[in-house]
Amino acid sequence: MITLISNYNEFKDFISNLDYKPKLLLHACCAPCSTHCLLVLKKYFDISVFFSNDNIYPKEEYFKRLDEINNFVSDFTQNVDVIEDGYNPEDYYNAVKGKEKLGERSIRCYECYKLRMEKSVIMAKKLGFEYFTTTLSLSPYKNSNWVNEIGYELEKKYGVKYLYSNFKKENGYLDSIKISEEYCLYRQNYCGCEFSLKERIEHDRLNKENKD
Ligand code: SF4
Repeated sequence: MITLISNYNEFKDFISNLDYKPKLLLHACCAPCSTHCLLVLKKYFDISVFFSNDNIYPKEEYFKRLDEINNFVSDFTQNVDVIEDGYNPEDYYNAVKGKEKLGERSIRCYECYKLRMEKSVIMAKKLGFEYFTTTLSLSPYKNSNWVNEIGYELEKKYGVKYLYSNFKKENGYLDSIKISEEYCLYRQNYCGCEFSLKERIEHDRLNKENKD
């Protein structure tokens, strides 16, 4: 039976009333976003971090973020491992086909969340995890409603429980910055895909032009 959690208070009640530590596959987009999420969840769940991010461009950036999360997780936690999904950028390009130019926070991002979350639930099912969720809801640039909508759809489709997430709450994003500084983590200045990199460069150029 699907237990629908619809807000952060219900989520907090739910995790604090767990009487055992369920196995959770936590999809993570990068080390900085995993900081606060791990802090909130590690007491209640037996966690594996799942790095599945075909969106990241270029390839060097993908491996930089992967190295960073591997190092951070081993410094910050005990008994949490990182599983890498492999880098398949063509899956990302197929997922966002025709939506490339729509900009950050558009339906392009919905498809990007869905791709990574679907790969996560498939892995969770394959490895026998009871729950899956994602760090994607931490960033103020990400739409938590979409994340949760996709999560519950995937729960129905694959039969692995989705753990509601809205890690922005309780100053989650600020907390992630604080922990990232404490652990000297690399914090990228663009979301991840080729298009967000171009959008960032254009944004910086316009800002500079306006100041000159
Ligand atoms: S901006 Fe971020 S979430 Fe949106 S498509 Fe690009 S990488 Fe994915």
